[in-house]
Amino acid sequence: MKTPPFKPETLAAQALGWIDESTRAVTPPIHVSSTYLRDPDNLYRSGRMYARADHPAFDQAEALIAALEQGQEAMLFASGMAAATPVFQALSPGDHVLAPKVMYWSLRNWLLQFAAQWGLKVELVEMNDPAAVQAAIRPGQTRLVWVETPANPLWTVTDIAATAAIAHAAGARLAVDSTTASPVITQPLALGADIVMHSATKYLGGHSDLLAGVLVTREDDDFWQRLRALRVNHGGTLGAFECFLLLRGLRTLFLRVRQANTSAQRIATHFDDHPLVAQVLYPGLPGFPGHEIAKRQMKGGFGAMLSIRVRGASAGGEAAAIATAAEVQLWKRATSLGGTESLLEHRSSVEGPNSPVPPDLLRLSVGIEDADDLIADLEQALARAQR
Ligand SMILES: *Cc1c(COP(=O)(O)O)cnc(C)c1O
Repeated sequence: MKTPPFKPETLAAQALGWIDESTRAVTPPIHVSSTYLRDPDNLYRSGRMYARADHPAFDQAEALIAALEQGQEAMLFASGMAAATPVFQALSPGDHVLAPKVMYWSLRNWLLQFAAQWGLKVELVEMNDPAAVQAAIRPGQTRLVWVETPANPLWTVTDIAATAAIAHAAGARLAVDSTTASPVITQPLALGADIVMHSATKYLGGHSDLLAGVLVTREDDDFWQRLRALRVNHGGTLGAFECFLLLRGLRTLFLRVRQANTSAQRIATHFDDHPLVAQVLYPGLPGFPGHEIAKRQMKGGFGAMLSIRVRGASAGGEAAAIATAAEVQLWKRATSLGGTESLLEHRSSVEGPNSPVPPDLLRLSVGIEDADDLIADLEQALARAQR
């Protein structure tokens, strides 16, 4: 869409207003061809040769996500993990990397294994503490600082602008896993990040019906070209049907995220100071560490992810947490987040012994159902779990 500069809500609702020129269709066709015709003089004037490298299904979704993140370019991948891992694979053996102690569990596990094999020097730090980041960073040797905010599943908030300043002063790039914030409430590039990553499986797709990932860059530089080459050569490209589903989901991104944010704030407030809940972890609660930073860098909401720590008579609440998960009727006991349906999960069963997650913690992904229904279901489950 050309001038005037439309608001992000408008860009998303019309998926940039593109139409298919050959049919005048307002939603894109699903192109399934894996290969493209070469011109008689041996050139590829279409700009397309083979679908692993460049697929017409990528174009609209990548352009829209780049616009929402205020980046120069976006690149889709077959999953969030397939988007995140090349950012580390583009580094060289011996490079030093800072990553958070509290972060998406699968990526932390992969990173520690890959670092050992590839010779990356990965150091896990309290990323929400700028003094700790400053103390750990090695000017000239640290090439990448990886941030996740709010971070799974304690919702630790990291100050993107402050961390970017520390990274850049040391000659390092800052990458942000912004999956749980979504572009509706945080634009990391505008705060100084160089790369933004999303598991588009979550809010961007929004319907728990596809796996996808995306990277967005502030500028098309050497590092971005290395990431492009990794996508083509590793082959972790997104399928045409998933591109279609992602674009369809993106059109309602703002409505979904705002509804879920509003409900999450209500649910967090309701269970804060609840007799059967030891603690509610949510960046939107005034007493939460990081709330002031969240107020500055999250706009119009604090996300739809929260965790509750369940009180129990014995075993520090673990048994009561698992029993609560067993008693929910409306919430779905499942991993993942960012769908229309609310999900709940006992995280320490998933993450195992090396995780920073307390055993009494339930992670909640708030969907777009009625908030009173969600509160009532959790109330009855907490009560029944005590019997
Ligand atoms: C789900 C998730 C990922 C991984 O994405 P997949 O699409 O499952 O590969 C990475 N980071 C965060 C914060 C996530 O929630």
